[in-house]
Amino acid sequence: MQTLHADVVSISPLTEFVHKVILKPQQPVTFEAGQYLQLVLGEKDKRAFSIASRPSQTDALELHIGASVADSYAMQSLEHLRSAHNNNQTVTIEAGLGVSQLRLQCERPIILLAGGTGFSYAKSMADHLAEINCQRPVLFYWGVKEESALYAHSEMKAWADSHKHFEFIPVVENPTDSWTGHTGYVHKAVMDDIISLEPYDIYMAGRFDMIGIVRDDFISHGAIRENMYADAFAFIK
Ligand SMILES: Cc1cc2nc3c(=O)[nH]c(=O)nc-3n(C[C@H](O)[C@H](O)[C@H](O)COP(=O)(O)OP(=O)(O)OC[C@H]3O[C@@H](n4cnc5c(N)ncnc54)[C@H](O)[C@@H]3O)c2cc1C
Repeated sequence: MQTLHADVVSISPLTEFVHKVILKPQQPVTFEAGQYLQLVLGEKDKRAFSIASRPSQTDALELHIGASVADSYAMQSLEHLRSAHNNNQTVTIEAGLGVSQLRLQCERPIILLAGGTGFSYAKSMADHLAEINCQRPVLFYWGVKEESALYAHSEMKAWADSHKHFEFIPVVENPTDSWTGHTGYVHKAVMDDIISLEPYDIYMAGRFDMIGIVRDDFISHGAIRENMYADAFAFIK
């Protein structure tokens, strides 16, 4: 883990509720794809956010923060970042955290499963896999409540088009009549598409209640617990 001071370069909306934050650390940052950082609000108040950028980008860190009035955890974090940005102050971060980073030393196909802003976690791994020209099949499922939350739809379609082994599957829980893709819960779409999850390494991020359900449903669908990775496991039973 590295403790660093970082400038808040920009905060820009991705949707009504999700914001992209660019941080510029005052020294080069080292992390693995799929790790997270903690934004230090106080000595005992540290908030976890996945790093959306690739490890090769050592001079800037991208975060996606889903903040609404109902979510004080994220809203207070965003206010902290805004205040630092407006007053030309740095924020303190602890980078390179987590145990659910991408494992590259095997040949198993990969499922990246993201619910909502869990996208950030999966995006770092997807971009890293493209950068190293990974030859393993990679299925990237991104589940959102409404179509309007698919803020990186075109970017991920381009990612999938860039490599014959990559596939991007967006899943909308409450679709409009014009939506022609997968619908419902994102992990149900995975189970509809794939007969057995036994061969896969599975990386996932999303709400804690979602991750508990997905773990149990996926194991019933053949997934091997040791090949499933989620930092949320540390926070749930
Ligand atoms: C290590 C760590 C890193 C984190 N990183 C971030 C981050 O980078 N950004 C951030 O904003 N927050 C982060 N958080 C906080 C938390 O993970 C997010 O608040 C959460 O992922 C937000 O989900 P959402 O509201 O966007 O999903 P929603 O919009 O509520 O849901 C999106 C989709 O998830 C699926 N889903 C949701 N609930 C269920 C369910 N009960 N059963 C089955 N499927 C379900 C559905 O497919 C749904 O359409 C992090 C937390 C930890 C511990």
